Amino acid sequence: MSNNNEAISEMSKLNDGTEKIIIKIENLVKRFGKLEVLKGINLQVKRGETIVIIGPSGGGKSTLLRCINKLEEYQGGKIYLDGVDIDEYDVNQLRTRIGMVFQQFNLFPHMNVLDNLILAPTKVKKMPREEAIEKAKVLLSRVGLLDKIDAYPEQLSGGQKQRVAIARALMMDPEIMLFDEPTSALDPELVGEVLDVMKDLARSGMTMLVVTHEMGFARDVADRIVFISQGVVEEEGPPEEILRNPKKPRTREFLRRIL
Ligand code: ADP
Ligand code: MG
Repeated sequence: MSNNNEAISEMSKLNDGTEKIIIKIENLVKRFGKLEVLKGINLQVKRGETIVIIGPSGGGKSTLLRCINKLEEYQGGKIYLDGVDIDEYDVNQLRTRIGMVFQQFNLFPHMNVLDNLILAPTKVKKMPREEAIEKAKVLLSRVGLLDKIDAYPEQLSGGQKQRVAIARALMMDPEIMLFDEPTSALDPELVGEVLDVMKDLARSGMTMLVVTHEMGFARDVADRIVFISQGVVEEEGPPEEILRNPKKPRTREFLRRIL
């Protein structure tokens, strides 16, 4: 009897474990012509985790995020979202589930903040305009920019633009947020306000993959740091382990240069 119970409890643990994995990347290979950029990436992300991806420039970090969001095709391996191969998803359907924020804000310059926010939900999700406006107001308050609802992107600072870009991505109620160096185009004094919004989001339980070299953010917020170099995951682990006691020479060398 007790054995049986143990077996059942083991099984539910297993079920738990697999249900929790929201993204699974297996042996991902990406080439641009003859250049192999991703050489067999393996990575699993649990629901609610914040993963910080670090690594040398040109190592394939952006390409990896772009593959997850179907902005790039790949030549080998698989990416699963909730256990389903992303090949099976329609690209628009996938992108309602995965939000992305880039280094260069990518706001539509000819639209004000409100219209930037409501465009995708009204077009792609067919959300009624009034509902979208209400949602936009909630999210703009959340990023501290409700007073900028009528402003145009050129009237905003870089930090404000990036906070709008985050609010815009959240309009679709994504389950996962991808950030590709969201603060590297910002003046240093504007970095904090964007990181604060991201910290809030992480604490609210969002699943996040963040490419950044803001190691303070990584230390405070990341559940895991993943070091990508030369197209593979060279090393990964909790921040305290990776930052204090990196095992691989390449990780050590990289951290020595950026810290
Ligand atoms: P990271 O984000 O880590 O700096 P990237 O993923 O941007 O690295 O780039 C990895 C490699 O792929 C680099 O050598 C880069 O030049 C190359 N690359 C990226 N995008 C393209 C593209 N569209 N066409 C050809 N090569 C590309
Ligand atoms: Mg990049």
